[in-house]
Amino acid sequence: MTKAKAKRSDLATRIGFGWDSHAFKTGIPLLIGGVQLDYDKGLGGHSDGDVLLHAITDALLGGIAGPDIGTLFPPSDPQWKGADSVVFLQEALRRVASAGYAVANLDSTLILNAPRIGPRAEEIRSRVAGLLGIPEDCVGLKAKTPEGLNNDNAAVAHVVVLLQKMKTKP
Ligand code: MG
Repeated sequence: MTKAKAKRSDLATRIGFGWDSHAFKTGIPLLIGGVQLDYDKGLGGHSDGDVLLHAITDALLGGIAGPDIGTLFPPSDPQWKGADSVVFLQEALRRVASAGYAVANLDSTLILNAPRIGPRAEEIRSRVAGLLGIPEDCVGLKAKTPEGLNNDNAAVAHVVVLLQKMKTKP
């Protein structure tokens, strides 16, 4: 006899993983983690192409086993053309909170040939921390070049988040 499944599990913590990639395109702004970087190319895509915010959004949604970013905000839907990716992130955060969880910390790795992220890394960490409502020391950000991958015209982001059960639901 199979036991009836609980409607929602009551885990104290949940992990989420997100991944995204976008190709560079000339003549558009480069946005990474909600910060505009100086570069002659930006990341193409239906929205503003913010590869890091997209990976964070998917990590948050994955942590609560929710629908992914492409399901919630289909590229085929004209209302998301040129959209500010902060809107996607905020919807993911709303879903995380309504599932009864809060973000504990996040770690991320960016893979891109240029521009160099190092000089702006603190700014990006601070912006991401602000968007998530967590301290800056709870946002990890590493940047690597795509050595040996023959992938110089794209930016890739990998993100993991830890979600923590809130004592009381909002
Ligand atoms: Mg994307």
